[in-house]
Amino acid sequence: MNREQGSLSINSENIFPIIKKWLYSDHDIFYRELVSNGCDAITKLKKLSLMSEVELADDEKFKLDVIVDANDKTIKIIDNGIGMTADEVREYINQIAFSGAADFLEKYKDKTNEDQIIGHFGLGFYSAFMVADKVTIDTLSWKDGESAVHWESEGGTEFEMSDSDKITRGTEITLYLNEESYEFCNEYRAREVLDKYCSFMPVEIYLINAAAVKEDVEEVVDEVVEEAPEVDEDGNVIESEVAKEDKGPKPINDTLPLWAKHPNECTDEEYKDFYRKVFHDYKEPLFWIHLNMDYPFNLKGILYFPKINTEYDSIEGTIKLYNNQVFIADNIKEVIPEFLMLLKGTIDCPDLPLNVSRSALQNDGFVRKISDYITKKVADKLSGMCKTDRENYEKFWEDINPFIKYGCLKDDKFEEKMKDYIIFRNLEDKFISLKDYREDFEATKENKKVIYYVTDEQQQSQYINMFKEAGQDAIVLKHNIDQPFITSLEQKDETIKFQRIDADITESFREEIDENDETIKEQAEALTELFRKVLEQEALEVKVEKLKNENVSSVVTLSEESRRMQDMMRMYNMGGMDPAMFGQSVTLVLNANNKLVQYVFNNKEDDDVNIVCEQLYDLAMISHKPLEPEKMTKFIDRSNRIMTMLVEK
Ligand code: ADP
Ligand code: MG
Repeated sequence: MNREQGSLSINSENIFPIIKKWLYSDHDIFYRELVSNGCDAITKLKKLSLMSEVELADDEKFKLDVIVDANDKTIKIIDNGIGMTADEVREYINQIAFSGAADFLEKYKDKTNEDQIIGHFGLGFYSAFMVADKVTIDTLSWKDGESAVHWESEGGTEFEMSDSDKITRGTEITLYLNEESYEFCNEYRAREVLDKYCSFMPVEIYLINAAAVKEDVEEVVDEVVEEAPEVDEDGNVIESEVAKEDKGPKPINDTLPLWAKHPNECTDEEYKDFYRKVFHDYKEPLFWIHLNMDYPFNLKGILYFPKINTEYDSIEGTIKLYNNQVFIADNIKEVIPEFLMLLKGTIDCPDLPLNVSRSALQNDGFVRKISDYITKKVADKLSGMCKTDRENYEKFWEDINPFIKYGCLKDDKFEEKMKDYIIFRNLEDKFISLKDYREDFEATKENKKVIYYVTDEQQQSQYINMFKEAGQDAIVLKHNIDQPFITSLEQKDETIKFQRIDADITESFREEIDENDETIKEQAEALTELFRKVLEQEALEVKVEKLKNENVSSVVTLSEESRRMQDMMRMYNMGGMDPAMFGQSVTLVLNANNKLVQYVFNNKEDDDVNIVCEQLYDLAMISHKPLEPEKMTKFIDRSNRIMTMLVEK
């Protein structure tokens, strides 16, 4: 062929700054684009072979080599797919690839960074110029009688075509990296990027470190020169380790990801292995959902429910989105409902419109359907489990409830499907559903439909004991999500009310006090005055009650509204403000039936009584919330003094 030169038909002066702007943070995607082009070329050849358009050798092994050379600062991507004829290079590379890139840039050049293109699809072959000063193509078409073509371009504006000496079918792309991109010919960096984007591409991909191979070969050559090759008993040459490795290297990818298999053909072990491999989480997942849909759209994937480490409140999952086994990006909230991102999983949707901006995706009806389908599948799985495998549902509840509650808050459809399967663990470690509660309320015709709850079983144990003694039940709500969740339940059904067990002294554990009981009135007045003085809290609210359990000396209550307000302030990090500004502060409840309280009342003038008052107050506070460091120090100090007094008596 005659040497041929040309100018690419795009206005390229301004194309590079735009590319740089777009892809600044994701320069590495050129790997995905070029490797997926190679895979496409092989897939096309396989199709031709299936249609008997092309005769292939029986032992034909399709593969793609990525050869990095840190000495030459080059990367080669070699496939044995269909290759291209000279005309095809003119059409697909000079026109399509470049005009594709131009279209892409034209469409998105004015968009802001927030409106990024999902996974930067669309630049294709052209993305090579982001990391390379010079790119060459050597390609030989599968078609009989075609000769190999060499194409090269520096900077992506002018190209030159000539004959190539390539003798095998397929395409070899060589990138001569620019100075800022040398990292990509480092074997480890290359492996990292290939792992990220190409782990599940449908053709075997081999990463070869040319610099290391060269060294090995030199070593082998030296060995051969120095000594005769080793032979075994039968006189066969024993291969060196290097030679062996060359014959049996492992591809970097898994060409048939588990999600692509039919769920009936997958074993639990395979699901767990896949989870470990993809998410590097060595805790076993609780269970999983295998999505497998062909109609009306194509969607496959596996969603795992991870075991939550309850010590940390925030749960972070990852949903990896693929398009025909090519990784696009993690956690694309336009496609995957936000609450599902607490899970870990992979979703492959070949029909996704990718070359669009995020905002366009958001308003896309088709994408909405995908997202609804995933939500429905998850709700079906969970509700099905609650109905048919309640034992496991309860077992997993601790781990899955934040996810379900978050889902209900975020997604009305999910809430509609899940609302009858919300369960609560009670003080006896039994599970009660909201539905049970409703039916209960219905049956007892009680109009005060209060559900009592505990947020911290250790700290609130004093109240819990009082509850248990009075035969009252409460549920345990200890996750951060519970507060917004119950608030939302209350908003949806105004007849129910959630109340933490330290919000009030309920009737069931106190004796009725006669309105005209002058002794109690007198005690209340005297004790209020005394405690306010000793604690130096002029506004302290003190109440005297006759609690059934006479061992309880003092408790603190704080109305549900005030506590929620204070919790909210803490959540928004407004802790510096005085909680009293936002509603009342705590009430100290003293038990008139308790001996210590009686002692305090009868010995008001005594010097020792101060220390008892302080201790009673702190003991009550400890069951309500953690003491601040300074108060804790005082409390410990005082406890020690009390014991010393005991011993010295
Ligand atoms: P896309 O892959 O979206 O079509 P690209 O810019 O990545 O866009 O590639 C443009 C075209 O160049 C491809 O459609 C294909 O026809 C051709 N091409 C690119 N790489 C190869 C390859 N390795 N083997 C054969 N053809 C290729
Ligand atoms: Mg492509």
